[in-house]
Amino acid sequence: MLVLASSALVAQDEAWFAERAPALEALYRHLHMHPELSFQERQTAARMATELRALGLEVTEQVGGTGVVAVLRRGEGPVGLLRADMDALPVAEDTGLPYASTVRAQSADGRAIGTMHACGHDLHMTCLLGAAQWFVQHPEAFRGTLVFQLQPAEERAGGMKAMLQDGLLTRFPRPAWAIALHTAHDLPHDRVGVRAGFAMANVDSCDITLFGKGGHGAAPHLCIDPVVMAAQLVLDLQTIVSREIDPLEACVITVGAIEGGNKHNIVPDRCHLQATVRSYTAPVRERMLASIERKAKAVALSFGAPAPKVEFSEHTPALQNHAALTAVVQRGLVAALGAEQVVEVPPAMVAEDFGRLLAENIPLCMFRLGTIEPRRLAAMQAAGDVPILHSGRFYPDYELAIRTGVKALVGAVRAAAAL
Ligand SMILES: [Zn+2]
Ligand SMILES: [Zn+2]
Repeated sequence: MLVLASSALVAQDEAWFAERAPALEALYRHLHMHPELSFQERQTAARMATELRALGLEVTEQVGGTGVVAVLRRGEGPVGLLRADMDALPVAEDTGLPYASTVRAQSADGRAIGTMHACGHDLHMTCLLGAAQWFVQHPEAFRGTLVFQLQPAEERAGGMKAMLQDGLLTRFPRPAWAIALHTAHDLPHDRVGVRAGFAMANVDSCDITLFGKGGHGAAPHLCIDPVVMAAQLVLDLQTIVSREIDPLEACVITVGAIEGGNKHNIVPDRCHLQATVRSYTAPVRERMLASIERKAKAVALSFGAPAPKVEFSEHTPALQNHAALTAVVQRGLVAALGAEQVVEVPPAMVAEDFGRLLAENIPLCMFRLGTIEPRRLAAMQAAGDVPILHSGRFYPDYELAIRTGVKALVGAVRAAAAL
């Protein structure tokens, strides 16, 4: 592989970016204004396929639902994969921006719900396209094959699995490594954050249905009240983390939804709870899942109620950045952005189904992209109010972040391709 001297590369990049930036910024605003929920990313996928096809790449649509795969071949050499996710969230945008989303989607029960790219996947797609353009227009910079993956449904943890099941690694060149970025709400726009090893958590979704005996709210002694059972269970579940798991292990149980009953004076016959369960290691995960089931059964038993239904779903494995690949990516990021711009970030309990590639024996590295203009970030930090990802008030300073993101992806891929 021919490596350009980094000063020459930077000078060349600045001119290239100045020319490309308006189109990339327009694409970002378009994607931001037209968010689509998980597995419904039809317009988004079509737009990205059109953009990638215009670059002359081999583009395949409808991989694992709405997924898109584009392949760039540059002769003999390693195969690398770059991934971006496409889905938005059922969050009403509250940024007041001129390009804010006003899109409403229909929820499962027919309500109109606000829809927003509150996790920055619009930025991920824009940066991926920018990197694809860079590699197409710099044929001297890379030998080998690049696979660009546009993935549906990251937020429902099903998109990567669906694309794998639909032949991501068999119908297309199998990558020797995979790289992705994810926006960060708390890093300045000119920085990226990376860490080797565990970076994001195991996630399991848990649905618990507690069964009682319904009746009049004025005669609780003739009923078995599943709402009181649920209240007790929510607190019991917290003792799993605080009393059963080694305090040095990271883990979380959050009950995010409780639904039971319709009226003040009626004891319902069931109550449904939804929880998210997060961990890093397999033993901790297994212990937590077993304990949740035990606690639910114990609460039911103590009330003389029927056995509860406990179901686990949507498992996403922890995201573990490959040590050697991450060291190489880090060098590439430093070459592209400068040493001071590359920081180590702590692990987080959020999740990412990009980590599924590890189970397919593909070394991977996901790094975090700073998105906030430093003075705005400092002001928000001073006020103690930094909107986080998934908040309707989160927004990146996209002109700046696109530049950093494209440069970072190009730098990371070039370094990895030289492995
Ligand atoms: Zn998200
Ligand atoms: Zn995300």
